[in-house]
Amino acid sequence: MTSEERRCGYVAIVGRPNVGKSTLLNHLLGQKISITSRKPQTTRHRVVGIKTEASHQIIFVDTPGLHKGAEKAINRYMNRAATTAIRDVDVVVFVGDRPAWTEEDAMVREQISQGGLPCILVVNKVDLLEDKSSLLPHLQFLAAKADFAAILPASALRQHNVDELEKELLAFLPVSQFLFPEEQITDRSQRFLAAEIVREKIMRQLGEEIPYSIAVEIEEFALDGEVLHISALILVERKGQKLILVGEGGARLRSIGTDARRDMELLFDSKAVSYTHLRAHETGRHISYAVFCLTKGGGG
Ligand code: GDP
Ligand code: MG
Repeated sequence: MTSEERRCGYVAIVGRPNVGKSTLLNHLLGQKISITSRKPQTTRHRVVGIKTEASHQIIFVDTPGLHKGAEKAINRYMNRAATTAIRDVDVVVFVGDRPAWTEEDAMVREQISQGGLPCILVVNKVDLLEDKSSLLPHLQFLAAKADFAAILPASALRQHNVDELEKELLAFLPVSQFLFPEEQITDRSQRFLAAEIVREKIMRQLGEEIPYSIAVEIEEFALDGEVLHISALILVERKGQKLILVGEGGARLRSIGTDARRDMELLFDSKAVSYTHLRAHETGRHISYAVFCLTKGGGG
């Protein structure tokens, strides 16, 4: 297998609590669990596991809970965060576990559709079905409800159809170099997460005004004594986008930096002390430059 033929992409596993998402993920990952974030963050797009084989690498990301009842501000916020996370993956695995199609299921499916993403429906816990003959009509019923790329009956617990699911997923991964080291947690994955955090904050604050195609490069990720220096370079295509990103007197970029640092503190177990500096410049596509400064392991 040459590296040109390899596939690598992002997969989100979504569904109501208790349907078996974690069980499914554990079995998909097998022994090769590579948790890249130690602290659970409910509102951030978070890598929960990476499965690397000779031919492919699947990066599973967590989406915050998708909620009905948007009357609560927190739920509105969570829904927006979830939609953002969903937009950023190659394929969504939608896990359900009961012979029904609820309003909530329909809402989740609708959010996935809005992201224009392929969606594989996993009907989990089929081992609990007493009447196996009810399965086929149920699958047909679901197929009529929404446009799924595939519908798989499965038992995450008994590992029924889990390998099958992995095979289905491969078809949706782009041909790509692996984005994570094949072995385990390294600095590179921390750099990657730092870039993802910055990107997510930009999307959250400016999602309507900035195209999703922006890129963030981590230029420096270095521990200097007690201080973790992280420098992020944000790449946008046009000058107008740069102006939006920088904001009045640099206010927008500072605000993005503040939000990003908060998440980085949690993720890298550090305490922010200050910006070392913050500036913007234009060199070809290299537009904005922000430096985050964090202190390792600070309390409070
Ligand atoms: P999550 O909240 O969606 O992550 O669900 P979990 O993976 O934590 O599973 C919730 C419960 O359902 C646990 O008690 C699992 O053991 C159980 N469960 C998960 N998958 C299956 C399955 O295929 N069959 C059965 N019978 N139970 C399952
Ligand atoms: Mg879970």
